[in-house]
Parts: sequence; structure tokens; C-alpha cells
Amino acid sequence: GEPIIDSAKCIGCQKCVKICPASALEMYFTPEELKILEQLATSAAPVEEELDPEAAAIAAKLAQYRGVWVFIEQTEGESAKVSWELLGVGQELAAKLGVELCALIIGHKVEHLCTEAFAYGATKAYLVDAPVFFHYRTEAYLEACCHLITKHKPEVILMGATGMGRDLAGAVATKVATGLTADCTGLGIDDKRNLMQTRPAFGGNIMATIMCDKFRPQMATVRPNVMPMPEHKPGAVGTIIREDFTVPEESILTKVIEIIRDSHNKSAVDITGAEFIVSGGRGMMSPENFAILHELAEELGGVVGASRSAVDAGWMPTDRQVGQTGKTVRPKIYIACGISGAIQHLVGMQDSDMVIAINRDPQAPIFEVASYGIVGDLFQVIPALTKKIREIKR
Ligand code: FAD
Repeated sequence: GEPIIDSAKCIGCQKCVKICPASALEMYFTPEELKILEQLATSAAPVEEELDPEAAAIAAKLAQYRGVWVFIEQTEGESAKVSWELLGVGQELAAKLGVELCALIIGHKVEHLCTEAFAYGATKAYLVDAPVFFHYRTEAYLEACCHLITKHKPEVILMGATGMGRDLAGAVATKVATGLTADCTGLGIDDKRNLMQTRPAFGGNIMATIMCDKFRPQMATVRPNVMPMPEHKPGAVGTIIREDFTVPEESILTKVIEIIRDSHNKSAVDITGAEFIVSGGRGMMSPENFAILHELAEELGGVVGASRSAVDAGWMPTDRQVGQTGKTVRPKIYIACGISGAIQHLVGMQDSDMVIAINRDPQAPIFEVASYGIVGDLFQVIPALTKKIREIKR
């Protein structure tokens, strides 16, 4: 509703303007009032900021937490690339905060990952190494994380938005009673040491920056390929803090009996690792027409991706979808064919080194992110491109 200002009580302090959650208030002064305010500002001694005891207690609690941690995800000793990407952005955050960048490593026989973490910029590694942690199980990893958080009090924890990271981050944030922002696309630090966590909101139509200013640690997950890989400096050294912590096997309800790899799904490809991606959208008109994209991709040594419209139409499998609800990709070249360039598609591919767009509509938003735009009928342009590449290769 309309705010009611009691003019008899209003002293023009403007506090209401600052705290209005909708930024809906503005205060106007008459020229006379402005003159008085100016005189007051120059004559009055600086007023001590009122110390609200509740705010002071929160500030004291938050000040106990220091350091940026990155959870190093591994499966049977093999690391997930997203963890190194997070060490890259983690370095920037740690530098702004003036604190250490630490790797959090849980597993069995995983000490080699500490060396890798140092090479990617961490200066300290907290290592929890015991047989019970060989396979990822929520209960065990949760206990280990919470033990370390309570003991060492980090102010920021980053995890990959993978199956494991999403599962663990949610469980940890719930148990230590703090905030978690999933699928961040940007991370920064404000002037009060708060982590600014930016992610698409309302179906990708706006970017929201979320902060957790009353609780620590501040937790965020980031999808693979969103952050660039940091430089790898072999031989970089750091401190390993070995934590003698384990969980009794009998207390864990989940048992991993066998791991069956998905070898049946022969058509499954990991588009996130591809250097060249040729993607098709609704403009492809039918599943058969994707053959021209496969031909072009093959000539380039790349793979075929798709927009959600093409996946929803059943023309391509879900694992090929690029975008907000699909994969985030960063290839050297991304060729978008018959894709309009909806924001939910763009967030998944706009960080590619080069984007080539083929669309018959010159107004299509895809051209806004394209390094090269070809306005034309894809059924003519794509075969011509493939032909040209074959000629050059010969
Ligand atoms: P269209 O928008 O229909 O565009 C087809 C394009 O093809 C047009 O620009 C047309 O000019 C061009 N064209 C047609 N014929 C030819 C021709 N012969 N030659 C050249 N050009 C031609 N979308 C995603 O892609 N990924 C996501 O992860 C994703 N997540 C979403 C999440 C949410 C919550 C929501 C609400 C939507 C999401 N979407 C996603 C859907 C997105 O909003 C768009 O609807 C979708 O990307 C459109 O796909 P398209 O570009 O293939 O189709």
C-alpha cells in the first residue's frame, strides 16, 4: 500500500529510504531545507553510528569465519574439472578478502589431489582420507564437511553444481544452518565481505545477486564450464592439514555394492568437453535434417548440440541440450543453426570463444552474441560450409 508519512514526526533522516525493501521511497527537500542540511553537514561533529547490539553480535559472530574453501570433487581418485575451475574464481575471492584459498579434499588415497589443488592456486588443503570415504555417500561426506567447518570456520565454500556437489552442498547448508545459492554464474565480494552470488532468476529473465549477510559460511554451487580454468603451475606448494576424522561404517545406511557404467548408451556424448559444437534448433524442422549438422560437426571434429525446442520435439536426446536447463558449454567455436537465441539458451553458450549464428531472421537475438552472423537459409548455408571445409582440408 501507499506509505503513510507522519509529517509531524518525520525529521528527514532518510532511514526509511535506505531500508525500503522495494526501493520505493524518495525524499525531496525544498531549497531552504537543503541549505539547512548543508550547514548541518559542515558544522556538526561526525556523529557516532548508533551501535545496534543485535547487529554488533552478528558482526562479531561473522568475524570468526575466515578463508575461501573449494570442495574438490573426485570419483575413485579422479577429480572433476569443475573443482579446478572453482579454484580459479576462488583465487580472486580470496585475494579480495585477503585470506587463504583452501582445498577441501575427502576420499580414500586422495593425497595426490592436494598437489593438483596447489598447482591450481590453493595454498592449503584440508585432507580427510579414510576407507569409509572411498565412494561418495551423503552421510559420510556430510559428517566430514561439518566437522571441518565447525573446527576451522571458513567464510566461503564453493562446490560444483554436479550431482555430487548439489547433493552435498544442500545437506551441509541445512546442517550448519546457513544459506546456499545454487547454479551461480558470477561471484564477487562486496565492501562488507559478503559473497555476491549472481544467478539467473524468474526463468532466466533477470539476473539476481543474492547475499547471505547474517550467516557463515556462505555457500554457492557453480556449474561446470561457467568459470574459466585457472593457470596450472606444476610444482606449486602448499600446506596439507591432515584431519584424523572418520565415520563408523555401520552408522552409514547407504552401501555401494557395485558401480555399473553406462556403456549401453553409445550415442551419449559429453558436449561440455567438446571444442567444436554445431547446435540445431526448431529451425531444423525435423530429426532427419540433423544429418547435415552431424556432417559439419564431423568435418570439424566436434559434436552436435541442440536447443531445448529441438530436445522437447524429440529430435535430439536430452544430454545434448545447451542452456539453463541443459549444459553450459565453452567450446572454441559454437555454431548455432536455426536457434533464435532465447536468454535461457544464451546463458549456456555465450562464453564460447567464437559464436557463429545461422538464421534467416536478421532480428534474431542470437546475432547479439555472435562473432559472425550469417543471415540465410540454413539448408543452403550449412551444406555449403561443409563443402568448403572439405575443399580446404583436401
Ligand atoms: P525458436 O525460438 O522457435 O527459434 C527458431 C529459429 O530458427 C528462429 O529464429 C527462426 O528464424 C530460425 N529458422 C527457422 N527456419 C530457418 C531456416 N530454414 N534457416 C535459418 N533459420 C531458420 N532453451 C534452450 O535452448 N535451453 C535451455 O536450457 C532452456 N531452458 C529453459 C528454461 C526455462 C525455465 C524456460 C522458460 C525456457 C527454457 N528454454 C531453454 C526455452 C527457450 O526459452 C526457447 O524457447 C528455446 O531456446 C527456443 O529454441 P529455438 O531457438 O530452437 O526455437
